[in-house]
Amino acid sequence: MSREDDTAWDEDVRVAVYRAFATHGRAPTAPELADAAHGSLAVAKQALHRLADARHLVLDVCEHVVLAHPFAAIPLGFSVMGERTLWWGGCAWDSFAIPHLVPAEPEVLVATRCPCCTEPTALVVSREAPPDGPQVAHFPVPTARMWDDVRHTCSVQRLFCGESCVDEWTDRTGMAKGTVLDLPALWRLAEGWYAGRLEHGYRRREPAEAAAYFTAAGLPGEFWTGRS
Ligand SMILES: [Zn+2]
Ligand SMILES: [Zn+2]
Repeated sequence: MSREDDTAWDEDVRVAVYRAFATHGRAPTAPELADAAHGSLAVAKQALHRLADARHLVLDVCEHVVLAHPFAAIPLGFSVMGERTLWWGGCAWDSFAIPHLVPAEPEVLVATRCPCCTEPTALVVSREAPPDGPQVAHFPVPTARMWDDVRHTCSVQRLFCGESCVDEWTDRTGMAKGTVLDLPALWRLAEGWYAGRLEHGYRRREPAEAAAYFTAAGLPGEFWTGRS
């Protein structure tokens, strides 16, 4: 089987990346990548760079996949434990998204610590309903700027004990306070955002479609939609 243009393998490589993370909790191995690109690791690596340019994933300087949202190959403050698979959870948004995206893991244990006071938090997150709890998620970077440095953006999208810890932490670090979501709002944000990423033919949302999603999830306003 051959295809005229190597870019034709990009979607196969993207799906291989996402399925490796979904199934095994890790980035794909070199043989898995090569398998996805008609046996050529070189073609797969070219595909990875095009996928990174198109914001389907993030590579480090060694061409390893470090982020394929909602999956992460690096610790960003969260672990997500399913029945069979353990993930680095990405950010608060990504950690809450994993049980919605991975068919075999409808319920996970999300564990983290408050960046302000280090209090541990463990939440059972399922597809059925948001978890109960006083915790809040803090998003310092508006959506229009999240991809300026997405690794940093994910690293600061954390769960705090409550808004007082967000205030104390932003005071202490000098980081601007962004928007704060309670657990039901975070769960609605995560619920459908990554739908389709494990399948062929996935298309990223255009900015207007993203704004419509945020509004439907109950998150209107300039922070989420990029407009006032
Ligand atoms: Zn705290
Ligand atoms: Zn994230």
